[in-house]
Amino acid sequence: MNVLVINCGSSSLKYQLISSDTEEVLAKGLCERIGIDGSAITHQPEGKEKVKTEVPMANHTDAVKYVIEKLTDPEVGVVKSLEEIDAVGHRIVHGGEKFNSSVVITDEVIKAIEECNDLAPLHNPANLIGINSCKELMPNVPMVAVFDTAFHQTMPEKAYLYGIPYKYYENYKIRRYGFHGTSHDYVSNRAAEIMGKSRDDLKIIVCHLGNGASVTAVDHGKSVDTSMGLTPLEGLIMGTRSGDMDPAIISFLADKLGKTADQIINICNKESGVLGLSNGLSSDFRDLSIAAEGGDERAKAALETYSYRVAKYIGSYVMAMKGVDIIAFTAGIGENNAFVRAQVCEYLEWLGTSMDPEKNAIRGEEVILSKTTDKVTIMIVPTDEEMAIARDTVRLIK
Ligand code: AMP
Repeated sequence: MNVLVINCGSSSLKYQLISSDTEEVLAKGLCERIGIDGSAITHQPEGKEKVKTEVPMANHTDAVKYVIEKLTDPEVGVVKSLEEIDAVGHRIVHGGEKFNSSVVITDEVIKAIEECNDLAPLHNPANLIGINSCKELMPNVPMVAVFDTAFHQTMPEKAYLYGIPYKYYENYKIRRYGFHGTSHDYVSNRAAEIMGKSRDDLKIIVCHLGNGASVTAVDHGKSVDTSMGLTPLEGLIMGTRSGDMDPAIISFLADKLGKTADQIINICNKESGVLGLSNGLSSDFRDLSIAAEGGDERAKAALETYSYRVAKYIGSYVMAMKGVDIIAFTAGIGENNAFVRAQVCEYLEWLGTSMDPEKNAIRGEEVILSKTTDKVTIMIVPTDEEMAIARDTVRLIK
């Protein structure tokens, strides 16, 4: 079975065509600048060079049309016709309290996703456009929605409620939802497999450290707490997002700068995190690590502040689960940035674990960083959200 995995942003569309039998990625690519000048599709068939084609794409339906064109192209394509695409798996950011697992997309499901738009106004409408475009161009191909929030629906009330009047939860569903669920689910499962154990017998903390970043406590297979909240702004310090801060800062800054709360939130989303902490140097951890090594004090402080926050979350989840067996690092920074991992692991020594600096130099591979005799296992588990989406899609379609 060939599954097309689609991840739609407001002006972008990422895709992968995965053969579920062999779990091989047949091709992947990205449509950029949809609806704006200079739109282009970058397509990469497995084992071949990337090809970038600049083509006008007025909307996401155009983008999906080009994706199908590339996938079936006689030269760079990987299938003969649309008939060979058996299912589509869509990444959906917010499923609210309506979805605690992936579902086959029906008209009712589309309506329910629309009802969650309020909770993710930047993401869900774009995800829905992706669904509708595929529906238009491949009306007979079954589709599945896989939600970033679904894995966290097992959190207990004490973890998801905020300390604000309960009526706001009742009236507006303001609560912690958490994101990156597909990744936390995949990585915790894989971490248990690597240890030759069942996830149902373990306490695992997953640190998904990418441009967006979150930590999750997975207790006996269930997410019991996670650092992102109502939106993906809460929790860790990220590339450009502030993470946790005193909510009073919003009105204080709005007052000082003569801006609205929305404008301050925009600063917290786009100009903060390590980008803001490094005085605008970069949101990219490669740049920051190089600058820190070269003696840039702000870059150094940004990385230290970042790692300290990660370590604090790990500490609080050890308490939440009353213990921990595995701490897993994943995503761009978690998989590749030895500097950040080393800084975080320094805080973990009291747990009776430490990482081997030689193993920590390995990048982007499944590797156990701690000693076999350590009480807590530290490891790197590269995430694969697309594969997890494809697996769920196949499971539901079959
Ligand atoms: P993601 O959102 O998961 O793609 O992660 C993006 C972040 O991962 C960026 O801050 C990158 O600097 C970081 N990253 C990706 N590859 C590397 C690498 N080889 N070395 C260090 N950091 C990396």
